[in-house]
Amino acid sequence: MTERIREFLRDRRERGLDEGPVLVVDLDVVKDNYTAFAKALPDTRVFYAVKANPAPEVLSLLAKLGSCFDTASVQEIEMALAAGATPDRISFGNTIKKERDIARAFALGIRLYAVDCKPEVDKVARAAPGSRVFCRILSDCAGAEWPLSRKFGCEPGMAVDVLEHALKSGLEPHGVSFHVGSQQRNQHAWDRALASAAAVFKECGERGMNLAMVNLGGGFPTKYLKNVPSVKTYGTAIFKALRKHFGNQIPETIIEPGRGMVGNAGIIESEVVLVSKKSEEDDVRWVYLDIGKFGGLAETMDESIRYPIKTQRDRDAMAPCVLAGPTCDSADVLYEKQPYPLPVSLEIGDRVLIEGTGAYTSTYSAVAFNGFPPLKTYHI
Ligand SMILES: *Cc1c(COP(=O)(O)O)cnc(C)c1O
Repeated sequence: MTERIREFLRDRRERGLDEGPVLVVDLDVVKDNYTAFAKALPDTRVFYAVKANPAPEVLSLLAKLGSCFDTASVQEIEMALAAGATPDRISFGNTIKKERDIARAFALGIRLYAVDCKPEVDKVARAAPGSRVFCRILSDCAGAEWPLSRKFGCEPGMAVDVLEHALKSGLEPHGVSFHVGSQQRNQHAWDRALASAAAVFKECGERGMNLAMVNLGGGFPTKYLKNVPSVKTYGTAIFKALRKHFGNQIPETIIEPGRGMVGNAGIIESEVVLVSKKSEEDDVRWVYLDIGKFGGLAETMDESIRYPIKTQRDRDAMAPCVLAGPTCDSADVLYEKQPYPLPVSLEIGDRVLIEGTGAYTSTYSAVAFNGFPPLKTYHI
């Protein structure tokens, strides 16, 4: 919680505007995060993953600071451009693109595309001729609290064929990318992925393709309940792994932080709507908030992300609760398998602060499921 957010919320309450849940993002924190990334990996370009928080205020701040942007759709490309980024600072990093969207991106000046198979290379070759492509390789995501599974990427051996196919199709095989899984709490996770990337570089070299770039992806964590290593610790571990696998021929590198750039900059203020029990004997209370899975807290799916929650009664005795959202969908339960400790004195109408909510909240919020409006957001 920053002083600026505290003041904003106090002022909002004093003016009687505190209706409904609200996300407040402190742009000073985003700026500090950008600076920390730039310092921790001084030779690495930062491509902010727009999907984490695409608010115009965040994008234009980062554009001013010199950031590049990783985008997944034409809309995100347009948002990055509107924020002041030039096309050479934008990558179309989604491996799953419609050919007509590639054509629109090409018309907007985008020349850097992600691929992970030959059919996608064919689309890029037709719709964005001569562009640079990087091939995403699979990564096991061990150690990540929000793993990205096998949906993206191919086996490293296949990546070589994909890049060779790109070359034969008139594209420029530029490099390799991976993502070690989001909220990656192990700074050594990059080591194994870089070993695979180096193997692809070597094999490509033997086939006459000199790759230039490794895209180290995102994965940098935000502090939720457990402590996480600093960005500096990640920078050091990644640099060591680059040295180990590429020797004195370290390629050009980029990172794509999303969560690590904006997560800790945001706080959601929510209200307790109901505290109840299912029977008089139950010792676990149910606490219902005015925000749930459909209001922006989708990452509580499978109870993956456990947000720190603060109340004004935290000095009182604590007891575990099932925590749920306000909608009439039984999936809208945040924490049940592992109940969440909250003050026993917690009452209907109390405000709770959900910390670390600057990433993957506002845009996960449904437009009006069950009539609840999308999450209100302020970037200050
Ligand atoms: C979502 C995404 C990111 C951001 O990941 P974080 O774990 O939030 O840093 C980076 N790169 C790609 C390709 C992504 O899809």
